[in-house]
Amino acid sequence: MTFEQFNLDPRLNAGIRAMGYQTPTPIQQRAIPVVLQDRDVLGLAQTGTGKTAAFILPILQRLTRGKLGRVRALIVAPTRELAEQIHQDTRQLGQKTRVRSTTVYGGVSKKRQVDALRRGAEVVVACPGRLLDLHGDRAIDLSKVEVLVLDEADRMCDMGFLPDIKRILRLLPRERQTLFFSATMPQEIRELADTILDDPETVQVDAIAPAKTVSHALYPVSSGRKKELLLTTLEQTATGRVLIFVRTKHRARALATDLDKKGYRASALQGNMSQNARQRSIDGFRKGRYDILVATDVASRGIDVSDISHVINYDMPDTVDAYTHRIGRTGRAHKSGEAFTFVGQEDEKLVRQIEKLLGARIERRTVEGFDYGRPDNGQRTSSSGSRSRSARTDPRRSRSGSRKHKSYNPRSRSARERRAQAQSVG
Ligand code: AMP
Repeated sequence: MTFEQFNLDPRLNAGIRAMGYQTPTPIQQRAIPVVLQDRDVLGLAQTGTGKTAAFILPILQRLTRGKLGRVRALIVAPTRELAEQIHQDTRQLGQKTRVRSTTVYGGVSKKRQVDALRRGAEVVVACPGRLLDLHGDRAIDLSKVEVLVLDEADRMCDMGFLPDIKRILRLLPRERQTLFFSATMPQEIRELADTILDDPETVQVDAIAPAKTVSHALYPVSSGRKKELLLTTLEQTATGRVLIFVRTKHRARALATDLDKKGYRASALQGNMSQNARQRSIDGFRKGRYDILVATDVASRGIDVSDISHVINYDMPDTVDAYTHRIGRTGRAHKSGEAFTFVGQEDEKLVRQIEKLLGARIERRTVEGFDYGRPDNGQRTSSSGSRSRSARTDPRRSRSGSRKHKSYNPRSRSARERRAQAQSVG
């Protein structure tokens, strides 16, 4: 199947080519024709499946006809990062059209958003709180909305946005097309979908499971030895861009600083950072200024950086769903990726649930030569304790020494090699 078969406006086909998309992904193949027929859609799709273009392309097709200068499509998303990403995709796919997109989210000044709305936009990509805020200020007119998209609806409910979403729904014309996307379908999401969708077509891509292009491995380790294990793993693995997940904002900041001190080009992404600082981290990671991004779950929503070779769960996520979302950051759109998860005994229950979802046992890996210390009895040990450092994990040695027993992927270079080259260049 090709994109031409959708009979989209030639200007949109030009945008698709500019994005480098060659063939539609399964969700695009199934959803685009349905959305083009003005039907409501219930989309069950995990991250990384190409769902953004699946709804944006038919929306742009609709907007190329009819009046400009009024808000005709409203896309509601849980986080600013995701909103920003959808906005960028809209701009790029619609770059040859006259359709304008703008964003509305908190944490940044209202003025620029109000000015952009005043200049006119047909697509608004918004987080719920600021949208209601601006509507209260009469800075946005939602009475002409023809299409509503609720993206990552399950995540919005997890984040407590359900009441805000219900308020937003009351501000929109009843006569509209609604596209509802969610990776999971808990009861309250199902009820919300039932009340707002009119005879929807359900489009489900795969079971709700992590992308098949990702290979998974567990690294049993006690909590006190995680940092050393991480350094050893980074030493021994040929990585491209690495996204590391930790449990708390503080751990994100501390680990990024530690990695930076060890000579890695690392940055943090966590909720205490200003929106500008977050964007700098994401852009730096995307453009290759950083090889490693250390993130918390909430801050990482919507990171769309292609070519993430490894997701490392330094701390286990809280739920199977969070695991799926995290590792959805690698293995995107047909590319392959690896997901490493550091696990302690306390994580066994969740590991079993993930294995059930994947339908397979996940390989347990031990790193040869790594000093695992005492067997983990669930107690935390201090990472700066008096244990002796093995030669292999001594950064002074490994910095100049050679890597051993590493499974080398000739296509990707390790962060270390890239750093060395960057240093030698300048
Ligand atoms: P999404 O699930 O919308 O977040 O998309 C995941 C990634 O796949 C993004 O980097 C998109 O730019 C990319 N993508 C979307 N559609 C295609 C396609 N048809 N071919 C290749 N990449 C795509």
